[in-house]
Amino acid sequence: MTRVVQKFGGSSVADAASIKRVARRIAATKQAGNDVVVVISAMGDTTDDLMDLALEVSPQPAPRELDMLLTTGERQSAALLAMALSDLGIPARSYTGSQAGVITTAAHGNARIIDITPGRIEKSLEAGDVVIVAGFQGVSQTTKDVTTLGRGASDTTAVALASSLGADFCEIYSDVDGVFTADPRIITGARRIPEISYEEMLEMAACGAKILHLRCVEYARREDVPVHVRSSFSDKPGTWVKDLADITKGSDMEEAIISGVSHDRSEAKITVAGIPDAVGRAAQIFDIVARADINIDMIVQNASRVMNGRTDLSFTLPMSDGPTAVHALTAAKDEIGYEQILYNDQIGKVSVVGVGMRSHPGVTSTFFRALADSGINLQMISTSEIRISVVVDADQVDEAVRVAHTAFGLDAEGEAVVYAGTGR
Ligand code: ASP
Ligand code: MG
Repeated sequence: MTRVVQKFGGSSVADAASIKRVARRIAATKQAGNDVVVVISAMGDTTDDLMDLALEVSPQPAPRELDMLLTTGERQSAALLAMALSDLGIPARSYTGSQAGVITTAAHGNARIIDITPGRIEKSLEAGDVVIVAGFQGVSQTTKDVTTLGRGASDTTAVALASSLGADFCEIYSDVDGVFTADPRIITGARRIPEISYEEMLEMAACGAKILHLRCVEYARREDVPVHVRSSFSDKPGTWVKDLADITKGSDMEEAIISGVSHDRSEAKITVAGIPDAVGRAAQIFDIVARADINIDMIVQNASRVMNGRTDLSFTLPMSDGPTAVHALTAAKDEIGYEQILYNDQIGKVSVVGVGMRSHPGVTSTFFRALADSGINLQMISTSEIRISVVVDADQVDEAVRVAHTAFGLDAEGEAVVYAGTGR
């Protein structure tokens, strides 16, 4: 018997009618003879609404209470889905993350799964139930409190459960037909990618593709769980995320140099200018940033100026952490001895990703030539073995994605369909 984990995002269960529609879909999978575990997100904008409500009540809600509140969103949809399935004659039971045995660290709002003890799920499956698990939540082993795993993390719950239950694969249902060569909201001729490697999907998720939660892809790669990203609004096949060795040989995708173009508008850039070019200054700067619990992304440091032996260092970070970082670095101005700090949140990052670039020279020049021909200035550049990212002016992000997509021959004829438009 095939064991499947199916995850439905918030836009697939936005109202009562959608919950019934999703229930019919799950019923069909169950009736086809599969063991089915469903991971569900909160309905529509529920998580955002709960967050707004909390902030109306208290400007800085206690993280423990915020998690108590946010986890109710997924409980609602899980229970409602179980009711809808029962009405279709399919026995179903809903479980909170904690009841399902999702054990996490104690970090409220950003907990990590450390173990899954799926005893209750196994029993329920044996009894013939469809098991429905509230996504994005668990319980801390140490504090015994309810935790959440970070925004968008129902994907991670699904893959973690698929791995621990030995499921054959994990299906992630969203409102688009799969992973596209670029955001279909910008590129109407974006193509669905039939198969993509974990590595490429990781880079794309890290570079702003919101279709899958980054940690879900890390988990899938580590545990080798094939993930099928597809639309709950159609029956079309979506995108299989799997091991590079399992990608169909001779397919278009295997031959493509670039698999996709991602973009991210959520980062800001800090430049610390006029730093004495001496041992330990960069360490000092990033110590300060790390102590503020901020993750940085790209870093660029120039060679020092001959005139005065000073250098500039720029880095990007989540825009939401910008003010905190500027504050912390400003407080350390004398200690570090820099001249000036510059902050720019009107930037965006555009990345081209593809395993094909390992074996094809000239990818960088094609990318940069396309940007130059459109008058797009590059503020920062960073690369990995299978990715090239640039920081450009926020106003030029769409254009940069468009010209890169064309330059690497990714444009297709038809229009990509966006069913609900949120990517959840
Ligand atoms: N409901 C949560 C969120 O909006 C988790 C998820 O949907 O994956 O972030
Ligand atoms: Mg999502």
